[in-house]
This record gives sequence, structure tokens and C-alpha cells, in this order.
Amino acid sequence: MISALPSVALDKIGQFSIDRRDYSMFLIRVGEPGPQKANVMIAAGIHGDEPAGVEAALRFVETNASNKSLLSRFHFMVFPCNNPTGWEKGTRENWQGIDLNREFGSRRPAPEVDIIQRALSGNCFELVFEMHEDVDSPGLYLYEITEESSHHVAETILHIANSMGCPINRSRYIEGMTASEGLIRRRTLRFRKTHVPQAIYTYRTCGGHVITLEPPASVLSFEDRVKIQLTALRITLDATRMREV
Ligand SMILES: [Zn+2]
Repeated sequence: MISALPSVALDKIGQFSIDRRDYSMFLIRVGEPGPQKANVMIAAGIHGDEPAGVEAALRFVETNASNKSLLSRFHFMVFPCNNPTGWEKGTRENWQGIDLNREFGSRRPAPEVDIIQRALSGNCFELVFEMHEDVDSPGLYLYEITEESSHHVAETILHIANSMGCPINRSRYIEGMTASEGLIRRRTLRFRKTHVPQAIYTYRTCGGHVITLEPPASVLSFEDRVKIQLTALRITLDATRMREV
């Protein structure tokens, strides 16, 4: 039981109803915020057919809830399953067929996105880590957004993942964007203001460092995808901690 751990708080951030059935959405806070601590957002499950991210987010909470060294440096806000109906049905979109990760910043977002945006309101993050998966990709790739080139950690993640046996998507174009050795480093000037992914919405709100990880779901086992997510998160947190010291 995650909520039984003393450093962990399970917040119900909202609910919505479909055919008289209620769906609740949750945020898990790990540790306490503080002036010397970096705020970190971990988000998973905005696409319902990407279950390894949900598992990795929950496993991260379970294994780190008593990690005093980590919690002396970080405060975590973990959104473990941002598309509960999609997760239930095993679909990318929600129950209405809406891709929630194209709804952020829109005037009338889907209820799930409205709930997440309200929960995010007033919060800024040094690091946002988004756990996705890609069923079509032949290898791992990731998106990294930051204005600070000294914060770049994507190459290290890709190198270590590859050394663990994870293939890398080395295409020059991935998802319509220019990529290099599995890395899509997004140009922030090109971001739209409305109908954007959650990662871009959080970046537009207050900047920071944003990583979106896309392990290849048709190539790696579920367990290996969970392991890649947790390894990449640990590498990113280690790099963040080294900077903050
Ligand atoms: Zn996704």
C-alpha cells in the first residue's frame, strides 16, 4: 500500500463520471517541498496503451519512499495514470477517442486534462519526466527540452540504455521531427500555445528540464521497458543532484 508509507501522500485530484461510473484521478506526493529541494514531476499513462510507464511510476514511489538521501534533495509529484479509461481499455485515447496528450492548453479540455491542469496550477518543476512507450519504434528514443545545454542528459541515457541491450531508434526523422541517434531535442520557439502535449504545457508554464522517454514496446519485454524507464529517471536525477550540490 503506497499510501501507508510516511513520506507518501495520495491526493485525489478529481473525478469524472461515465454512464454513472466514477473515475478518480490521483497525484502521489513523495517527500516534502523545501527551499533546498528540486521539484520533480513524474507523469505516466496519458496514453492508455503504454502500461510500462504506469508500472515504472508506481514502482519508483514504492522503492524510493524511504530513500532519505533522495528525499533530502527532491520533492516528487507523481501522476501515475493520467488516462484511467484508456488504461482500462488499453487504448491510446480516452473513452471518447480523444488523445489527451494533444489537449493541454486548449480552451475546453477533456475532463482528465482539466483535472491535471488544475493540479499543476501554481507548481513549477526543475525536472519533468514523462514516461511513454512507442509500439511502432524499432528502438528507444527520447525528447529533451531545456534552455541550459549544461543540463543535457539525453545522450547519457541513450548510451547507458544501449549498453543494457536496448536498441536505439537511429532514424533521422522520428514522429515527423529531426532526430539524431535516438534524440529529439525540441526547439522551444516552435511550440504552439494550445492543444499541446503535457510535456510542452509544463515547459511553457515555467521552463525547467523536460524528458519524454519512449521505450520500444514491440521490441522489449514489459519488465525491460519498466527497467529502462527507472534507469533513465535515475540517471536524470543523479545529473540534477550533481548540479544542485
Ligand atoms: Zn505516449
